[in-house]
Amino acid sequence: MKGAPDGLQTIDERERVLLAPYAMKSRDSRGRKHAEPTHAYRGPFQRDRDRILHSSAYRRLSGKLQVFTGDMGDYHRTRLTHTHEVASIARTIGRALRLNEDLIEALALFHDIGHPPFGHAGEDALHECLRDEGGFSHNQFALTLAEELEERNPAFRGLNLTWEVLDSQATRAAKEDPATHPVLEAQVVDLADSMTYDAHDTDDAVKLGLVELEELLEVPLVGQISERLGLQPKQGQMKFKRKAIVHALIDWQVNDLLARCGPELGAADFRCVGDVKQAEYRMTHSTEMRAQKAELETFLFNRVYRHPTILESRQHAQHRLKRLFDAYRQQPERLPRRYRQRIPSVGLKRGVADYLAGMTDRFCDQRYGDYVEQDSAPRGLGVSEW
Ligand code: MG
Repeated sequence: MKGAPDGLQTIDERERVLLAPYAMKSRDSRGRKHAEPTHAYRGPFQRDRDRILHSSAYRRLSGKLQVFTGDMGDYHRTRLTHTHEVASIARTIGRALRLNEDLIEALALFHDIGHPPFGHAGEDALHECLRDEGGFSHNQFALTLAEELEERNPAFRGLNLTWEVLDSQATRAAKEDPATHPVLEAQVVDLADSMTYDAHDTDDAVKLGLVELEELLEVPLVGQISERLGLQPKQGQMKFKRKAIVHALIDWQVNDLLARCGPELGAADFRCVGDVKQAEYRMTHSTEMRAQKAELETFLFNRVYRHPTILESRQHAQHRLKRLFDAYRQQPERLPRRYRQRIPSVGLKRGVADYLAGMTDRFCDQRYGDYVEQDSAPRGLGVSEW
């Protein structure tokens, strides 16, 4: 690694002091597909984080819904603010456990970058469109973006991220495969993702009036929190009550994880990342918290994700995305040139789906208006038809 300017600590010096033996070190990175000179004071995972942050796909997360659509208001989370909340919680956990925060931040900013427009509804629609060709997965598409579609250097395609970031994302894509052994930093991001959406979907659902706070208190974890905090449902205090509950939901989940994994990692005596993989160690919540999270998630699934308003917007979004998929499939010349050029190698359907997956919700609606609604609108006798 190139030396730091006079008076500055190198990344390696810093990591030797701060990180636990089981944390991923910058000096142990397997590097990038296309070799690049090292940087004087930014480590490889910091550079990955910055490349992700400055990518087009990352910025588009601000125009992609998490659960609730833009016409439901401005309060709730978008895919971008969700991503920031995940990064914040994951870094808190990572710092407490002396893991590599730079790698954690890069992975957190990257984790949802492959989400298509309209959240999981959009993903399911594209998956159906590609059912004969292996389907569509946002986790897999994040890798396509990072390795093929993002442009930052004329010498190669993609962001040229480190092997560790790409491999960690690949383990997310193959989550069901028992043979995957993600590094602890990737495990933290995965757990933080779940803690984050459990908390903010609860917050957003109450704020948007899809569920009443009183109903939520019947969920055992939320009821316990409310009782412990001694919250009284006084008139005019509901907003603070909701916020206190959401804050505690995050705090309790993080505390539970640290209370279990801190001592486990201390006792395990892992000397390096390889020891963690060898032992197939998995960070997890306590049995009690796992059960309580499952109850909260069942409530969210039945009462929020399956709420008639959400189901209706989900159906509407899927219909638009499928029609737009058909429209581009019939007229691939409407695809931007670099997407047309991929068709011989990835096939027409995949090429169209990859283009659609990169769209924001708004752009997808706009294109639907341009290429589906207008094309199917009954035509009057325009000047050109005389
Ligand atoms: Mg997420």
